[in-house]
This record gives sequence, structure tokens and C-alpha cells, in this order.
Amino acid sequence: QGENFLTNNDVRQLDRSYVFHSWSAQGNLNPLVIAGAKGCQLWDYDGKKYLDFSSQLVNVNIGYQHPKVLAAMKAQLEELVTIAPATANLARGEAAKRIVELAPAGFHKVFFTNAGADANENAIRMARLYTGRDKVLSAYRSYHGNTGSAIAATGDWRRVPNEYSRGHVHFFNPYLYRSEFNATNEQEECARALQHLRRIIECEGPASIAAILLESIPGTAGILVPPAGYMKGVRALADEFGIVLILDEVMAGFGRTGRWFAFEHDDVVPDLITFAKGVNAGYVPAGGVLISEAISHYFDDHFFAGGLTYSGHPLAMAAIVATLDAMKEENVVENAALVGDGALRAGLNALSEKYALVGEVRGVGVFQALELVTNPETKTPVAAADMAAIKLALTEAGLLSFVVENRIHVVPPCTVTADEVKQGLAIIDQVLGQFSGLVR
Ligand code: PLP
Repeated sequence: QGENFLTNNDVRQLDRSYVFHSWSAQGNLNPLVIAGAKGCQLWDYDGKKYLDFSSQLVNVNIGYQHPKVLAAMKAQLEELVTIAPATANLARGEAAKRIVELAPAGFHKVFFTNAGADANENAIRMARLYTGRDKVLSAYRSYHGNTGSAIAATGDWRRVPNEYSRGHVHFFNPYLYRSEFNATNEQEECARALQHLRRIIECEGPASIAAILLESIPGTAGILVPPAGYMKGVRALADEFGIVLILDEVMAGFGRTGRWFAFEHDDVVPDLITFAKGVNAGYVPAGGVLISEAISHYFDDHFFAGGLTYSGHPLAMAAIVATLDAMKEENVVENAALVGDGALRAGLNALSEKYALVGEVRGVGVFQALELVTNPETKTPVAAADMAAIKLALTEAGLLSFVVENRIHVVPPCTVTADEVKQGLAIIDQVLGQFSGLVR
């Protein structure tokens, strides 16, 4: 019965017999088997070890099996494992208080959800109720989650087969390496992207636009750090036209960029902040909306038409409290900045010097990406089949990676050490060497 008697093959067979997987045709899947994990390391049933440079779906910010978080979850299990959202619960109050205290001045309350998608869903609903307007503007290069409004707000290809709801309009966000605006430097990219957004607002009719929804640093879209001044410019446009600014911190928040929130790098303050993932490192599903004072007070005497059975589930809340406390006690956010902007970024820069395959390195903290091209002049992306082979080679060499399109997103847990960074970079170096012949 015990896991000692299991092999990878047993677990894979069980999965393939009964489990239906996300974002896939089901026919030829070969999922990686994981038996256990600790810190930044994972292992399978056959004794193979992996170093995690993916944080799974960029959510295990505090690493695996953190003892303080596990202890808090066990204590909560013994005390009260479930209770409805309408009750007042200690863990829920403590979690909300901590999140509000991390936010900029003027943030007031937290509405808890089960994950990131429904955080965006409810933030959009709040913005619509608050403004009495309908449309939501969001970026083509974005991912906001897989529920009704969240997937319609998403910019990437996953929107297209799911696009049933109305009221969503998309714009191009800045991405100098592949500029949509023929820009040759960051200032031009910034100014032209803001002018493009202004024109979209004017043409859509400002009085019909409830919200601009934007990832503070678009993550799955390629870790597209916005140029200096862009976020401030978006804030100014939202103010000029009375539009609610929602910043999606689901992937970038809670330490990933070396700050608690990624928008802190841009010195802007949104009206609503959505979060999930890193808030409790995914130990129990949880997300939420951080609500600014004006919107929070609006709902003092206006009905909020929204709710979820598991909003503020005590086990998820206990995991939030313990995660945030441990992150503070152990300087996890500072570590993400120190190791991410230090050893990790220096190593990635060195790989980009060494291999023409690396078209661009970008990112901040432990939120970095290598964009791979077969020709640095034409910036031709490495083909999907070759990227799949690169991912497989990384995995076989013992490194878990987050590969999207022609990019390796380098996103280890925020607790990663300089030594682990060295090990991971050595594997990436070896694999890029193996594939350097793709450059023509
Ligand atoms: N927003 C962003 C920026 C994300 O990266 C994701 C997931 O990757 C989501 C929202 C959706 O979160 P969830 O999958 O928890 O619903």
C-alpha cells in the first residue's frame, strides 16, 4: 500500500486512466510524475530528483512543504476546518488584515475567492457595479484566468475558443523587443503604447468603459516588464476618463519580483488589486480582490451581488497567515530581489552573451525569461517542436522549467539559494549548448 511500493509507471497509468487534463488534447499525454518535494527540490517514485525553476505554475513562492505553513494548517485542521463566508472567522480576519497591511495606503478590505480567475471575475464585477459601465479594456499579451469574464479579458490564444461574453476590448501593451509601434527605444515604445491606449478609449467611448485590467508585469505573455512611465501613464488615462484601474498581481505579486507587489516598481496605485498563487504559495487554493477605500465605501450602502461557498476558507486562510508571516520572518521577498537580480540575472546575461540562441533576457527578481530565436537579426522564434525538445532536455537533466512559446521563463521559488541558482544555470547552459545549432 505505501508509496514505497509504487513506481512512476503505476502513478502515470492511474492518471492516464482517470484524469482529464487542462489545456490539452487527451490522447498522447505523458505527465511528469512527482512523489514528494521539499524546499526547491522534488523527486519521483524511481528516485530521480529535480530542481524547480518553475515554481509549478509560478505559484510555489515559498518552496515546498514549508514547516511553519504546514504546522499552521495542521493547527487549523484541528480547530475548525470549514465555515461559511458569512461568519466572522479568526483566520480569515487575520489573513485579510495582513494583506491590507502590505498594500499601499488607501486599501481597505479583501474579498476572498478560490483562485486568480475568480479574483479577476469579481474585480470586474465590482468595477461594473461601481461605475455603472460595461466594457473592460485589457491587453492582447495577457492571461487573466479561465472563467467567463477572466478568459474573455485574456489576450492570448486561450481567449479565442472561449469568447462568449461581450464587453471586452483589447489593446497592445508595450513589448519593445517585438514592438507593435515600430519603436526603437523604451521611451518611444512607452509614448506610442499610451497614445494607442488613449485612442482605443476615445473610440470605444470613455463613458462605456468600467475598467482597465492589466497585469502589473504580464507573466505568461513573456515577463514583459513595462517601460518606465507606462504604468503611470495608464493610471493617468484611467483618472482622466473615470475608469477603474485593476492590476492583476496573481503571478507577479507576493515576492516574485523582489517586492510584495510588482506595481511598487512603477510607483502607481491601482483601484483594485487581484491576487492568488503566491499569497499562500498554492498550499490551499485561494485568491482575492484587495479593494481601495472609495470602492469599498461604495459598497457600504450598495449591494454587492457576488459570493462563493469557499470565500475565505479557514484552511486556505491559515496557510495565507503562516505564509506571509514566514516570508517576513525569513526575508523571502528580500531574497528574491538579492538572488534574482543578482546571481540569477548575471548568469542569464552571461548565457545570452554566450549563445546567439538567446535573443533577449528580461525580468526582475525571480521573474525572468530567456527569449530564444534562431536568428538574432530577424528574431525568428525557435519553433514549437524544438522548444518542446528543449523542455524535455531540461527535465531529463533534472531541471523543472516553465516554457511558453519560444521562451524559457526562469521562475524558481523566492526562497532559491545562490547555490541552487548556480546548479540550475549550469543545466540551462548545458542544454542551450546542445541546441545552439538551431541558430542559422
Ligand atoms: N492572472 C494571472 C496573471 C495569471 O498568471 C493567472 C494564472 O496563471 C491567473 C490570473 C488565473 O489564476 P488561476 O489559475 O488561479 O485561476
